[in-house]
Amino acid sequence: MSTRGMAAEASPAARSIERFSVLTCPVCGHRAREEMPVDACAFFHECAGCGERLRPLPGHCCVFCSYGTVPCPPKQTGCCSA
Ligand SMILES: [Zn+2]
Repeated sequence: MSTRGMAAEASPAARSIERFSVLTCPVCGHRAREEMPVDACAFFHECAGCGERLRPLPGHCCVFCSYGTVPCPPKQTGCCSA
């Protein structure tokens, strides 16, 4: 018998939410550690390196999902449909 493959469907809220994500600019490669708003998606992020205004990739809800190391809090908690 195997216990692998049985997804532990614990309630998402039980997992701690990562508040910080490191955004990597696709234009210049500049990295910025940003604190994410817990209850909203950040649609725009202005790169501190080159000034480029980053927008989410198609199908993504926010710049953190597209360029960050951690998806946005709404996605972490599972209330984001995408
Ligand atoms: Zn940049």
